[in-house]
Amino acid sequence: MEFPPSSHPCATPTWVGTTVTAAVAWSHVDRGPTGVSKHHDVVVVGGGIIGLAIAWRSAQSGRHVAVVDPDPGKGATWAAAGMLAPVSEAHFGEEVLAALNLAAAAAWPDFAAQLQASSGMAVHFRPDGTLLVAGDPSDRVDIDRTLAFHLAIGLPAFRLGARSCREAEPMLAPGISGGVDLPEDHQVDNRAVATALIEACRVAEVTMVADRVLRVDVGAQLDHGLRVQGVSLAIGDALAAQSVVISAGSRSGEVEGLPGACRPPVRPVHGVTVRLQARHGVPRLRRTVRALVHGRSCYLVPRDDGGLVLGATMEERGSTLDVPFGGLAELLSDARRIVPALDEYSVIELAPGLRPGSPDNGPIVGTTAVHGLLLATGHFRNGVLLAPATADEVVGLLDARDDRTTVRPSPFDAFRPVRFAEWEPQG
Ligand SMILES: Cc1cc2nc3c(=O)[nH]c(=O)nc-3n(C[C@H](O)[C@H](O)[C@H](O)COP(=O)(O)OP(=O)(O)OC[C@H]3O[C@@H](n4cnc5c(N)ncnc54)[C@H](O)[C@@H]3O)c2cc1C
Repeated sequence: MEFPPSSHPCATPTWVGTTVTAAVAWSHVDRGPTGVSKHHDVVVVGGGIIGLAIAWRSAQSGRHVAVVDPDPGKGATWAAAGMLAPVSEAHFGEEVLAALNLAAAAAWPDFAAQLQASSGMAVHFRPDGTLLVAGDPSDRVDIDRTLAFHLAIGLPAFRLGARSCREAEPMLAPGISGGVDLPEDHQVDNRAVATALIEACRVAEVTMVADRVLRVDVGAQLDHGLRVQGVSLAIGDALAAQSVVISAGSRSGEVEGLPGACRPPVRPVHGVTVRLQARHGVPRLRRTVRALVHGRSCYLVPRDDGGLVLGATMEERGSTLDVPFGGLAELLSDARRIVPALDEYSVIELAPGLRPGSPDNGPIVGTTAVHGLLLATGHFRNGVLLAPATADEVVGLLDARDDRTTVRPSPFDAFRPVRFAEWEPQG
């Protein structure tokens, strides 16, 4: 077996043992009869799950939309496990983010149904809950502390003894020290979602541009400060637009032309998932299992086709997509301790990706000081969970700007770009 080689920062992940086929062809710059690039209502920079969801929803709202991305759906979106986990991802000190995540989770059933109807493709949304288990008694203490926090802020979580955990999930090791039932933490096949979004965008006549945005073009307007004019592409073309949405994941801060106060302070946070496949006759997990093992987190997300996504490492390593041996070895050993039957599974693929992390771990979604320029990035560990809500939020902001609606209070209010307007990198 061959593992992914070192990658240039601009490279997309390399996969092992799997041929990645785009379901839908990605076109080149869409031009009008004069050869001049057409004007769009909205240009979306970056076609990960966030940008694609925004493009699809914006096109549904009647707008003429373009997405620019050299390799759509293949960033962090492709590496992710697809957990929709507002409860198990709720951490001390992040209560406001937990409220946003919970609201975002509620949008998933409708979003999945509409996406399937629009694309004709299954996305495998599975509302079957999650089991969080403790590897040993000291992990049990940590999990109980987290459970108390979850209950204190009103999140649905129920303590289980070791026997109840094993009744719910017979593949768990006999040595586990109990756990917690999280009935509202679900999952979706994130790769199927990305593929379906590309198809739904095609159906909704979104222009798809297989290129990289070099620069956002901004101009001054009399008495009204700065206004976005469009984007310039690496191949030398330009796309004019009424609005530009930056959703380039961990690279969102690198797009040129953004005035300093509008540049999102996102950084890449490296993570790897391991794709496994159950051999014929080997038992399968019934639902997502998360675990704490010697204080380290891991998770196992079963897919409908017998696949299993094991994750994830989390390290600050800059933009490299190398897979470090140490983190991977710990992950494999922790998972095997919780589910010993993993020995009977085949390793199909290692999927490294870069989470777009922000200084406070919250997303960065909203308008900026430049008229027509919006940010939708920084979704860190929860971009799949937050994609439908982010898309609705961005369309709501576009509607308000176009006087179709008024701005209403939103769970994204605490996560606007303006909170970082004066932000300076530390150290
Ligand atoms: C290992 C791992 C596991 C994860 N598991 C989960 C999970 O279970 N649940 C969950 O909710 N979240 C999970 N996440 C987080 C989630 O994957 C991210 O938050 C989400 O994918 C962010 O989506 P995005 O569209 O902003 O970024 P990406 O998916 O990274 O997409 C950004 C896109 O922008 C494009 N781009 C970059 N620069 C430019 C440019 N200049 N011009 C044009 N295009 C550009 C890239 O090609 C890329 O396609 C996980 C992440 C990782 C790495």
